[in-house]
Amino acid sequence: MFESLSDRLTGALKDLRGKGRLSDADIDTTCREIRLALLDADVALPVVRSFIGKIKERAKGAEVSGALNPAQQVVKIVNEELIAILGGETRRVQFAKNPPTVIMLAGLQGSGKTTLAGKLAKWLKDQGHTPLLVACDLQRPGAVSQLQIVGERAGAAVFAPHPGTSVGDSEIEIRVADPINVARAGIEEANAKQYDVVIVDTAGRLGIDMELMQQAAGIRDAVEPDETLFVLDAMIGQDAVSTAESFRDGVGFTGVVLTKLDGDARGGAALSVREVTGMPIMFASTGEKLEEFDVFHPDRMASRILGMGDVLSLIEAAEQHFDEEQAQATAAKIGSGQLTLEDFLEQMMAIRKMGPIGNLLGMLPGAGQMKDALSQVDDSQLDRVQAIIRGMTPAERTDPKIINASRRLRIANGSGVKVSDVNQLVDRFFEARKMMASMSRQMGMPGARRQTR
Ligand code: GDP
Repeated sequence: MFESLSDRLTGALKDLRGKGRLSDADIDTTCREIRLALLDADVALPVVRSFIGKIKERAKGAEVSGALNPAQQVVKIVNEELIAILGGETRRVQFAKNPPTVIMLAGLQGSGKTTLAGKLAKWLKDQGHTPLLVACDLQRPGAVSQLQIVGERAGAAVFAPHPGTSVGDSEIEIRVADPINVARAGIEEANAKQYDVVIVDTAGRLGIDMELMQQAAGIRDAVEPDETLFVLDAMIGQDAVSTAESFRDGVGFTGVVLTKLDGDARGGAALSVREVTGMPIMFASTGEKLEEFDVFHPDRMASRILGMGDVLSLIEAAEQHFDEEQAQATAAKIGSGQLTLEDFLEQMMAIRKMGPIGNLLGMLPGAGQMKDALSQVDDSQLDRVQAIIRGMTPAERTDPKIINASRRLRIANGSGVKVSDVNQLVDRFFEARKMMASMSRQMGMPGARRQTR
């Protein structure tokens, strides 16, 4: 996500380090590098100009601070201005006072609307809402059945125009497969069956055209959405800005969703969208899987772009998937050196619920520079570790000391790996257990005491 931009910006700012004072010339040089980095990343020119103008002005006028050295002060300013470009505050979904809340999705074909519908539905369900997906993309072949598939994955109901394909036993008859009628009928269905959020998926075209805009505007008038989300593929480069402007003028929207942020493209155009349209970025999608999606936090994104990691998102993901009691019990076991392979397996599975491991590591500070190493972090290695532990008996998992040579051979055969893989895992486990116990003693963690092995 914004890796090359991130590399360039951190590079530009690194050159300032170690300087006791910054001259105007130092600031000019740094600003020039930042400017080039932003332009190379496809950030729109007017946005770059005003951004650089602000940085220069603030950096040159900066008071000498006791807490920060000059380089840190510039980083702080760049960070704050980046947060401002990205919208400042996190913008949350505004739910209607009288349900259902209607959320309409608009954007070009292939931007990721249908996928997003599923992601939103899952996200809403996780918060206790009862979303209904309404299939109004009747243009793209397969769009309706695709929505049904993502709806099923998300565990959400789908209202679709073809008889026999709608979930539930809708009495509302749809006579003509006209997207506007379908949209209206979808709202009636939600009212009748008390769904509290309606997500309306609309058609897109490959390029902007009048008919598309009119259809989207017609659906908008029929359903009076509380939120209209403009879905923008971050990989489309420079076109992002003009596409956003056309949708703003043709349909209007209340928020932007950036998709495909996992791609390697420059992506900077997407960073201009807030400045150019004045509308907030509300969500970010970073992959095809339902869980690869999150609320967009300008501050976290800025610190991620500046290579300061995204520790808050990581903590949130952890909070969502970790069981507090279990975590405390594990911490106590770690402290006393009594962690078993069974605990280790449980922890590993809990971590993996948070998503692919490379994504998680990518949120850590400094991850930008480690991206080559990260791209080699492979979930299949973890699969192998899991297979080996699963090949052990409960007694072996609880007390790995009993795993002698013949047991190792049996485990290797049973889990389809080499004996050396089993050896490596067991040895590393002992090492890690020792190290974690000593770390937790130093940090005064619960249950910390001298361990026996
Ligand atoms: P629609 O035409 O706007 O409904 O777009 P789709 O939802 O069908 O998405 C188009 C393609 O982009 C599909 O192959 C999706 O799997 C893929 N896609 C959607 N969102 C993302 C994302 O965040 N990252 C990646 N890598 N692919 C995505």
